[in-house]
Amino acid sequence: MQHSGISVEAYPAVQPTRSEPLCAFTMDVEDWYQSSVDFDAPITNRVVRNCDRFLKVLDHSGVKATFFVQGLVAKAFPGLVRTFLQEGHEVQSHGHSHRPLHAMNHEQLRCELEFARKTLEDASGTRITMFRAQDFSILRENIWALELVAEAGFDIDSSIFPLRTTRYGISGWPAGPSRGRLQNGAVLIEAPVAVVKYGALWLPVAGGGYFRLLPQALLCWALSSITAAGRPAIVYCHPYEIAPEEIDEYKGLVSPLFLQYQRLGRSQFGSRLEHLFSKLSFGRMDSVLANWGII
Ligand SMILES: [Zn+2]
Repeated sequence: MQHSGISVEAYPAVQPTRSEPLCAFTMDVEDWYQSSVDFDAPITNRVVRNCDRFLKVLDHSGVKATFFVQGLVAKAFPGLVRTFLQEGHEVQSHGHSHRPLHAMNHEQLRCELEFARKTLEDASGTRITMFRAQDFSILRENIWALELVAEAGFDIDSSIFPLRTTRYGISGWPAGPSRGRLQNGAVLIEAPVAVVKYGALWLPVAGGGYFRLLPQALLCWALSSITAAGRPAIVYCHPYEIAPEEIDEYKGLVSPLFLQYQRLGRSQFGSRLEHLFSKLSFGRMDSVLANWGII
């Protein structure tokens, strides 16, 4: 299949070589106000406090996760990165500034990716091999960004949302992992977050409001149907989604309607995850991709 000059070959639907984990639990590690409202705002220790809460939930359920850490977070709180690794989790990159990639030219994007990788490698002492763009901001019009992702030293990308929504995504992109041969000759594995087929429709279920608010049974059905169809289910969330009280700290700074939406589902999110972890087998991206024979 050709997508905007890229030869994209979907991995065939298969049954995994091992029984678990079949689903990847990932988190984009960022501080809400800086990542969503003001890119020039400082990173606050809310991100550390919220990640600590998630680490307790993960520990309680015996689940290892992949943390896609924003470079600015790694720079402000390198100890948080080390904590993830010490507790057996995987650390990968969620860009540096959280500015959308489609607003950057080639030179700006080269710098963004270099800062992202280097800051996180300095904090973690490990090689960083996976990248997920801020807000899935690799679209059809800036698909060339994948070439720079590969040039920056990443082997696996999780930046393309495989259906078009009002904010992001590329319609018709393979729903499961694929291998892209780019125009610069590089090869990049694309591992998109979960979308599910319902009748003739593809629906997002992997993160954000869907992940916080869909009925539990429906979410379990959706993720199980993805793995039964022969591909891994990759879900994502953010540290602030477990912090309902944080919303009140932004009163007066952000529109009340925006805050009201952000508050939805936050107070139940921890218990919701524990329930999900009891029903399905979750693990790190690298373990899950290895189980499905992708890496
Ligand atoms: Zn993000």
